[in-house]
Amino acid sequence: MPTTIQHYQDLGDFDYGAADRVTPLIRRVICKNPTPFTYKGTGTYLVGQGEVAVIDPGPPLKSHLDDIVNALQPGEAITHAFITHTHSDHSPLTKDLKELTGAISYGFGPHGAVREDDPEDRVDFSAYISDEEQEQYRKEFDELPEELKREGADTEFSPDVFLQDGDVIAGSNWTIRSIHTPGHCSNHLCFELMEEASLFSGDHVMGWATSVVGPPDGSMKDYMESLRKLLGFDHEQYWPTHGPAIPEPANYVQSFITHREEREDQIIGHLKSGPQKIADFVPEMYAKYDKRLWYPAAGSVHAHLLHMVETGRAEVTEDHGEPKLTATYRLL
Ligand SMILES: [Zn+2]
Repeated sequence: MPTTIQHYQDLGDFDYGAADRVTPLIRRVICKNPTPFTYKGTGTYLVGQGEVAVIDPGPPLKSHLDDIVNALQPGEAITHAFITHTHSDHSPLTKDLKELTGAISYGFGPHGAVREDDPEDRVDFSAYISDEEQEQYRKEFDELPEELKREGADTEFSPDVFLQDGDVIAGSNWTIRSIHTPGHCSNHLCFELMEEASLFSGDHVMGWATSVVGPPDGSMKDYMESLRKLLGFDHEQYWPTHGPAIPEPANYVQSFITHREEREDQIIGHLKSGPQKIADFVPEMYAKYDKRLWYPAAGSVHAHLLHMVETGRAEVTEDHGEPKLTATYRLL
């Protein structure tokens, strides 16, 4: 069993849509889009006073846009929108926010590679998830507001300003430095708030759970390098988009690195008993998790295996087999 990570999940008392001042320079508004993938919902941050920057506007919910704007004090204006990455719970509301406020958007760039929908290449957990459970999941999904049903990549977003690693943007009383942290998504940026020695960590380092790394846009090699990259900074606190603040982030990041190494060891352990498919061992590896998380977890396991194939430590058993989600893998 991998060592248990001490997650930070306690958001305290909060009301959806209400602005909470969490530090002198940061206010947070939590969007009402809780799912098994977003924890309590998207936490949108407002940074500074007067000239305000927004970090991750969120999903395209009109009510959330109203809540963000209502968080402003008289005389304040939203002038900047920083996007950590192009997933549907982070970037889509930027368009409406820009129209309403005239804010300029900042991000690494549009979404990278999108996985082609290949009906032949889907993990099948039907041996482990009953028809009743499937039906329940379908029902819960059907009940979501239409705006929240589009999951995954936001391929429509493109920032006004393309940021690179190390770019510094200053507002009237805040300074943000971008740190490129690919892995969860190839265009993922973390944003350092220099005045408070803190970091908006997006989905790269989250308080409530580990990140999903889904190929082809997500890469385990990049993710591990991006975790190690953060150890080179001396941030006092992280503000992830989902979940509460993370104190002592260096220890936490180190525990993620260890966790991933242990996950790889687990995969190797499973493959030692002979060639296997991802769907054969994910239910055991992720037995204590909500079964709906097995699908993204299969993506993370796939990312591990792709990395192992690239580095000559595993291969696909099928003749001329591509390293697909449903391929059979063996150790080399
Ligand atoms: Zn994401």
